[in-house]
Amino acid sequence: MLSKMTNKKSGRILSIVVALILVFSTISLSAYAISDSEKAEYNQKIEDIRSQIAENKKKIQELRDEASTYDDEIGGYQDKIDALQSQIDLYNQEIALIDADIKGIEDEITGIENEIEALDKQVKKLDAQVVEIQQDIADTYTILGERLRASYMSGTSSSLEYLLTSDNFQYQSYLERIELLERISQHDNDVIKSLEEDIVKLEEKVKEIEATKVEKNEKIEVLDAKVVDLEGKKQVQVDARKVIEDAEAEIQADLDKVMSIVNGLNASSKEYEAAIERGEATILDYEHKLSGENESYGSGTTGNMVWPVPYNNTYVSSSFKMRTLNGVTRQHNGIDICRGSSSYGATVVAVKAGTVTTAYHSGYNGGFGLYVVIDHGDGVKTYYAHLSSVNVNVGDYVTQGSKIGEIGNTGYSFGAHLHFGLMINGGWVNPMNHLSKPAGLEIRG
Ligand SMILES: [Zn+2]
Repeated sequence: MLSKMTNKKSGRILSIVVALILVFSTISLSAYAISDSEKAEYNQKIEDIRSQIAENKKKIQELRDEASTYDDEIGGYQDKIDALQSQIDLYNQEIALIDADIKGIEDEITGIENEIEALDKQVKKLDAQVVEIQQDIADTYTILGERLRASYMSGTSSSLEYLLTSDNFQYQSYLERIELLERISQHDNDVIKSLEEDIVKLEEKVKEIEATKVEKNEKIEVLDAKVVDLEGKKQVQVDARKVIEDAEAEIQADLDKVMSIVNGLNASSKEYEAAIERGEATILDYEHKLSGENESYGSGTTGNMVWPVPYNNTYVSSSFKMRTLNGVTRQHNGIDICRGSSSYGATVVAVKAGTVTTAYHSGYNGGFGLYVVIDHGDGVKTYYAHLSSVNVNVGDYVTQGSKIGEIGNTGYSFGAHLHFGLMINGGWVNPMNHLSKPAGLEIRG
């Protein structure tokens, strides 16, 4: 009975304790935790974003597949361009030869033109000489006529008269001529000799003029042929250039068409990639909210926090501020710490004692890569991201200054560094206002 009573009593006490615990835990939940509906909402949002990301990744793959279907075509145009290039080289060699030909013909033409000009001058000179000789002949005739009249009037009919009246004196026998000539005065003889010479000279000049004119006409014919030749060569050049230009324009137009399609596909891929990045950042924000159950109402006291990278040659490469990375401007929710010598593999320590709430040993994890979150109580949490290795697990209690991992380049990172974030009561704050900094710390960004 007693024992029954005692059992009954102890049972009642137990139920009171249980009730009290339930009341306290209810109070605790309502005081610190986000509501179930909020939790469900955040999880739903994360799920939605994840499915969008998966969809976008599929779209990127589709775009890449589509772009790769143009690879052969682009390669074909590249081959055509290469072939055209060797054709262009040949044409250029041909054009260079034709240029040399044209230069040679132009020189020849200039030479012939000079020759024709010289011949023209020659003809003019000969013409003048002919006029001069004709004048001489006329003058000589006048003198002879005067002498004839004088001898006629003095009655001494001379052989000169006979000579001058004879139509065919060249058929006279030599002796007859000598005989006749002996009978005329020496002066008359000289006059007739000069006349004969003038007549011969005149005939020579006329012949020379004829020959010069023939030569000139021949030169003009050669010149005309050369000009036709030159025109032909120039046309060959024009035609060759046109063939090249037409072929180039055709291939370029085809290539431009394909490249604009491929560029369009690549641009779309880039947009989807940017959307994925934004989605992953949003997921991270929701995950922080979900994990921030006990942060909302903490005191936020950070106390003494040591520098997370325990070396004397570290610097801040990027501060807690708005910054633009790959065209996207957003708040940098932490500081980036590098080490003077090699950052990669450098030890990362807990800035303060606490319990590990997150420890990713692999994966992209929304851009943080391998990362650790330590809950220090009082609504204070610290984040250590882009690690190359993680030495702790969820639930571990870590002391201040103990190694939790090593600096790396995992996740959305472009070079080994530690991204250190400090969250107080669910909001990011500037860690520089809470960490004890090494002496002479450099802020480079
Ligand atoms: Zn960072």
